[in-house]
Amino acid sequence: MTRRRQRRTLKPLPGGRVEYKGRSFINFCSNDYLGLAQDERIVQALKEAADEYGVGSGASQLITGYSEAHEQLEQQLADFTGYDRALFFSNGYMANLGVITALADRHTSLYLDRLAHASLIDATRLSRARYQRYAHNSVADLMARLADDQQQRRLVVSEGVFSMEGDRAPLIDIAQCCQQQKALFYLDDAHGFGVLGEQGRGSRSAQGLDTDAVPLQMATFGKALGVSGAFVAGSHELIETILQRSRTLTYSTAPPPALARATATALTIVIAEQWRRDKLEALVQYWRRVAHEQELPLLESDTAIQPLLIGADADALAVSESLMEHGLLVSAIRPPTVPEGEARLRITLTSAHEQADIDRLVQALAASL
Ligand SMILES: *Cc1c(COP(=O)(O)O)cnc(C)c1O
Repeated sequence: MTRRRQRRTLKPLPGGRVEYKGRSFINFCSNDYLGLAQDERIVQALKEAADEYGVGSGASQLITGYSEAHEQLEQQLADFTGYDRALFFSNGYMANLGVITALADRHTSLYLDRLAHASLIDATRLSRARYQRYAHNSVADLMARLADDQQQRRLVVSEGVFSMEGDRAPLIDIAQCCQQQKALFYLDDAHGFGVLGEQGRGSRSAQGLDTDAVPLQMATFGKALGVSGAFVAGSHELIETILQRSRTLTYSTAPPPALARATATALTIVIAEQWRRDKLEALVQYWRRVAHEQELPLLESDTAIQPLLIGADADALAVSESLMEHGLLVSAIRPPTVPEGEARLRITLTSAHEQADIDRLVQALAASL
């Protein structure tokens, strides 16, 4: 069976809504978890920095594309996350490609969670490392595989919050396992950064781990920060290695300096405005309560990602289409993004939503399922 995917041409509207074909829809597909993608202050920062720097950076970071705006953002990220140093990448996909190919080669054993994001899988393949995929969130399986492997250089990769499940990785146990087995732990916190932990420091902070326990982590700016780009943070030594070896950094034009400025403003807002995280958390709890009352097929998740497991592709598509008739945008996620027979509706909540939006969603789902 072929699974044709289509793009929709949308325009953002306030209040977690989008315009599509002249109609307004509540958007339950966005990763703009804190409702910042249209924030006036970030827009203003982008405009002012564009007046100062222009648009393009003109070259790779290692040639002449690196500016004070990039440098300041990296410093701000290092201070905020508590690592020695941070590196700015064009996006999360490029960060994962750059980091993993910099740190792993054919003499490395790499361990990936079975549900790892496509960018991590592609990065792993490109690195030519020998790799294994351990059972989802199973530290016992990871431990057994590591104990069985004599390879000197070992890299373990997990997400903090899984993008299609919404569940969190057991970082305390993974970190302990890696320390015991002398494997390097790389955390992809695309869905935790900005949302979880103290001031939005992410999954590591939320689980009370220090930077030694998670020596290397990345996150994207395209999700909770509402911007675009990504960073990786770690020790001086690790970051220097990545800077020297990462081909996605060396052979690609640096992101616009104005974007770095806008990201710095977004980060300041994320840190300062705790109410956004509090509101999101309250909405998640409210959704789970009312969805449970309606016996909707919830997965185990307490994050902004709240999938409903449907099963067959056609059923997931049919429900998604029926929700559109109710003015609700919810994406149907099908294989190969998720395993066969596990098609789902991937509902994401953001702090731009209100309880009334969730009421509408639950009523429409109860009528469509
Ligand atoms: C979205 C995502 C990425 C890629 O980040 P972009 O900045 O969108 O390229 C990487 N890893 C995970 C887990 C993601 O969800």
